[in-house]
Amino acid sequence: MNKYAANRNLVIAIDGPAGAGKSTIAKKLAKKLAILYLDTGAMYRAVGLNILEAGRDPADPLDVLPLLDHMDIAVRYENGLQAVYLNGRNVTDKIRTQQVSGAASAVAVLPEVRKKLVNLQREIASNVSLVMDGRDIGTYVLPNADIKIFLTASPKERTRRRWKELRENGEDPDYDDIRKEIAERDRNDSNRSFAPLKKAEDALLIDTTNKAIDEVVNEIEGLIQVQRR
Ligand code: C5P
Repeated sequence: MNKYAANRNLVIAIDGPAGAGKSTIAKKLAKKLAILYLDTGAMYRAVGLNILEAGRDPADPLDVLPLLDHMDIAVRYENGLQAVYLNGRNVTDKIRTQQVSGAASAVAVLPEVRKKLVNLQREIASNVSLVMDGRDIGTYVLPNADIKIFLTASPKERTRRRWKELRENGEDPDYDDIRKEIAERDRNDSNRSFAPLKKAEDALLIDTTNKAIDEVVNEIEGLIQVQRR
């Protein structure tokens, strides 16, 4: 039987480091395919924000773990766009700062945090077609995904993209600070022992450094067509 029979959901996992183009590409791909997009980084950001707002240290498990059980993280779709709620409050815009990026990466090292969010991610993916992006989607969250993509780009290009994104969000970031922040997040994400950032063996590696967004989206769509045959 065709793997993609009409009644079967299509699940696409996109992983890669910060600034590789994951969210832009995943969002566009999901729109073209008319399926859901789930940005899992937003969930780690919401946890990071909660810890910062409580005046605690995101890098200290003793500061983070006691708050975890009282933390309600939820994802809702409003006009087709993902909104993230923290204890009933819409924090979608608040989680995009540099400070929250660092906090997200620090709390993401903790297995307890990951397990809580992965349960939610799997629950959302259980009955729909979707594109999910993150660091461990193809390796850990959805190992049976139909299509797995690992995006990369040069550190310089990733820094430039992140700088531009923060500027567009009204921040005035220092280029060198961003370079350091990205290097620090890469280190945290790749070296943690539980579900680190890693290319799944069966993922297709795409370097987006010199590629236009549409080029990458088309490449992934092409892959889907081939698999559907
Ligand atoms: O993707 P984004 O940059 O928004 O993710 C913020 C942080 O959340 C990452 O640096 C990473 O530490 C963490 N994260 C993760 N696993 C995911 C998604 C994000 O550890 N699936």
